[in-house]
Amino acid sequence: MDNREKDRQHPPVLNKVLTLLDDLKVSPSGAIIYGHIEQMLSEMNDDHHKTEEAYASFLDMLMEACISLIPADSPLHTHLRLVQLRLTPPLSVSELGVLNRSVEAVADELAKSGSLREHDLAPALTPVIERFSGVTHKRASVTHAPPVEQNASKPSSTKPASGEIMAEFRANTAYRAHLDEKRDEMQKLQRDFVSQMSEAIIESQSFGRILEDALVTLQQSPSIDDLEKRRSELVKAMEEMTEGHRALDEKFSRAQEYLSIIEDDNQQLNDELDRVRLLSLTDELTSLPNRRAFMRRLEDEVSRVQRHGYPLGLILMDLDHFKSINDLRGHAAGDEVLRSYSKEILSIFRHHDLVARYGGEEFAVILPNTTQEGVMSALNKVRQRVDEVAEMRGSDTFELPTFSAGVAEFRPGETPSTLIERADSALYAAKRKGRNCTEISGQEQEMDSHSPSGAAG
Ligand code: GH3
Ligand code: MG
Ligand code: MG
Repeated sequence: MDNREKDRQHPPVLNKVLTLLDDLKVSPSGAIIYGHIEQMLSEMNDDHHKTEEAYASFLDMLMEACISLIPADSPLHTHLRLVQLRLTPPLSVSELGVLNRSVEAVADELAKSGSLREHDLAPALTPVIERFSGVTHKRASVTHAPPVEQNASKPSSTKPASGEIMAEFRANTAYRAHLDEKRDEMQKLQRDFVSQMSEAIIESQSFGRILEDALVTLQQSPSIDDLEKRRSELVKAMEEMTEGHRALDEKFSRAQEYLSIIEDDNQQLNDELDRVRLLSLTDELTSLPNRRAFMRRLEDEVSRVQRHGYPLGLILMDLDHFKSINDLRGHAAGDEVLRSYSKEILSIFRHHDLVARYGGEEFAVILPNTTQEGVMSALNKVRQRVDEVAEMRGSDTFELPTFSAGVAEFRPGETPSTLIERADSALYAAKRKGRNCTEISGQEQEMDSHSPSGAAG
């Protein structure tokens, strides 16, 4: 089952919680955490669902038992059937509260009098009936209402003169029509019920008799102890159910808090990862991209050039006699020179060129879409810049070292490493030639002994 299928099966509240966590899925570790949370919440929800189902069938049983004690032609019978119909999970905490209070009130009455008297029963049942039967009007109450209530119970008056407007609404959408249909059904049920109730009020004598019969049946069947026991069980079950809902509610809000903490942690983790990623691609001394970043970019550029065929230039530069700066002025002075080179000199390359610190006092420059001539002209500017910066500094500080460079232009079909090797050979040739100069791969002067790796500083 894929995730989308799973999502569809989650209840809305769970989907809502999971949506909060969607961002977790972007990282592999986050996706694992997400999976665990989803599993945990789904199990919690399943448990909750099973508990609800169990209580619902228990309630249904009790309602059935209660209804069976009342004659089928009694309005109270219809009334309680309506309640039973509406009493399906999920029940809200407030609905459970209403049930709980009613059951308690009935039970108290039972405990006090040992019998169920209609008059005492009425206030206890009214809130439940109002809440669950869809009847909200006062006249729906199970009560000895005065006869004046009869008039209000006439069903025909509930259809307003705005019938035409309603018809227009119905025409709007099928969905609205469906809702209207449902509403009409409910209204009919309500009207029937109200009319039955008013009949019951008019026929109070027969209503009283029905209740008397019910009381006799109740009195005859189980003992008070038995009734009390059943009442306690019911109250306990209701309390547990309410408590269960409250606990679940708490669990969900705790889970939500927990999830927001995870979300924060995840953000911090992402920031940290960004930082580490940045560090792992950046040289700390010069803040230039490091060798790893250079290699990645070169691979990208080579594969791009292989597809599109534009020129690609590569420079390897090595500072001349850099070691002597360290030796004469100290390592910190050497560091300063490296920083100066990166900030004041190598910064003159174009924005889309990549200047990287390739090694100790070696720099590499990738020049996309640049021919050999372009590369040479860039290098000439760099040399001029070295002179300018040296001049600017005057005699206050030591001289900036010169540099030697090897240039290679990408050849179709070659790999990044052969391109680097050719630039390195050219650099070696420049060093051999006497330093402070540039050699181009393929145009180097013949050397007696050729060992590229050792030549450049
Ligand atoms: P050549 O002209 O042949 O390149 O001579 P060189 O002295 O530049 O080359 P060599 O390889 O002999 O010395 C390079 C020196 O660079 C040695 C090393 O200690 C120094 N170095 C490498 N990385 C750093 C760094 O981060 N800071 C400092 N201060 N020195 C460094
Ligand atoms: Mg050097
Ligand atoms: Mg070197």
